[in-house]
Amino acid sequence: MKIAIIGAGFGGMAAAYDLKNAGHDVTVYESADYVGGLASGFKEPGWNWWVEKFYHHWFQSDNEMLGLIRELGWEDKVLFPRPLTVMYHKGKFYPFDSIVKALLFPGLGFGLDKIRFGFVGLFLRLTNNWKALEKVTADAWMMKWAGRNVYEKMWKPLLIGKFGPYYRDVNMAWMWARIKARTTRLGTFEGGFQRFADLFAEKLRGMGVAIRLGAKVESIRREQAGLSVRSDGKSERFDKVLVTTAPNLMAKLAPDLPENYLKGLLELKSMGAVVMVMSLKHQLSNEGYYWFNLPKEEGYPFLALNEHTNFVSKEHFGGDHIIYAGDYLEAGHEYFSMSDEELLERFLPAFKKFNPAFERDWVKKVWVFKTNYAQPVPLLNHSKNIPSIQTPIEGLYFASMSQVYPWDRGTNFAVEIGRRAARMMLSS
Ligand SMILES: Cc1cc2nc3c(=O)[nH]c(=O)nc-3n(C[C@H](O)[C@H](O)[C@H](O)COP(=O)(O)OP(=O)(O)OC[C@H]3O[C@@H](n4cnc5c(N)ncnc54)[C@H](O)[C@@H]3O)c2cc1C
Repeated sequence: MKIAIIGAGFGGMAAAYDLKNAGHDVTVYESADYVGGLASGFKEPGWNWWVEKFYHHWFQSDNEMLGLIRELGWEDKVLFPRPLTVMYHKGKFYPFDSIVKALLFPGLGFGLDKIRFGFVGLFLRLTNNWKALEKVTADAWMMKWAGRNVYEKMWKPLLIGKFGPYYRDVNMAWMWARIKARTTRLGTFEGGFQRFADLFAEKLRGMGVAIRLGAKVESIRREQAGLSVRSDGKSERFDKVLVTTAPNLMAKLAPDLPENYLKGLLELKSMGAVVMVMSLKHQLSNEGYYWFNLPKEEGYPFLALNEHTNFVSKEHFGGDHIIYAGDYLEAGHEYFSMSDEELLERFLPAFKKFNPAFERDWVKKVWVFKTNYAQPVPLLNHSKNIPSIQTPIEGLYFASMSQVYPWDRGTNFAVEIGRRAARMMLSS
């Protein structure tokens, strides 16, 4: 078969790998001039590792990704340090990445709330019945079982940070999946995610996959003899096509899809993200903390702050200290239209809260990355609203972050859904 894949993110590349291994003729179209999609990175002169544009790490439970890396023979390039995660309480940060640390965290007191927090966590770790949990919102479930205090202190800030105006609408299966699958050790690839993406692309090319960079697909139409993919004013015929873009882009690319499938695509909700990366002259967190969980209600101008060089060594970045400050936001939020300088002005005052000695002249360089499609929002009974991978157009398949469920999207699940789509393409 002659197969086209739209998108050279980890989903598209994983599908290309399996389809080529099964003996097919595979072409990948990628609109950017690099591979890796949302997990791609950038590199400055003097750095020998890439920095992801949007912070990225793996969990030890990311079996699909780690399995693929093993198949490719690169498991010796995966590192799993144990960076420190901290929680905010009354102006201070407390380590929160083990049962003992959670027990010592003063934010929940030392009485009933802590017991409820422990039992709810344990129940969610042990149950597998997420189908029952998707019928109720995380807001209602947590309020009932964890109690107002625990919910407001621990879980509500996370929901608000990730889903903004939708925080009350997100279903409890999403929260279950998050608690179930996460580990305290966090992983990365030697050289960064971009290094892995580049190696993977090199491997695919070596196998005979054609990866066309800077090739934006404009439309996909069914014709008598197959599917016609149009890019750069030229059309090419394929037997099967897999699209891995955001759902709204899929709707634009294939407007001949039946109305109910198109409606399903367009009704999916998602959040965008704005992330500022900074290189600093000095370490921001004196304690060496990596990930700061921040409650938006305390007035921080961003949801997440992490010091990448407290996760991987600053030696890979010529001694620079790398900081991420970011937020999940609805498309149309003012951060999307602010210049990098304006955003820096907005963010800068908050850095003193992480280190009172911080001064503006610590900042060497700033980069800002924005995407409209960063985090799907799973509403009640989401499993019934997920568009099928095999679309109603014969030979046309769709595999995106919005179909990853009940697990939270991530490169691990991009690989899983890409490979699942490839199996479906091979068997039908
Ligand atoms: C802020 C943030 C933090 C994250 N943190 C993590 C993390 O810690 N760990 C983790 O594993 N994951 C994380 N993720 C998620 C992870 O990046 C994604 O789940 C994963 O990269 C999705 O891969 P994909 O192949 O499905 O899609 P994408 O990576 O989006 O790939 C789709 C590709 O399609 C291309 N494309 C779009 N339109 C066209 C067109 N018309 N023609 C041709 N090509 C086109 C795009 O350029 C893109 O390269 C994070 C994401 C964000 C935004």
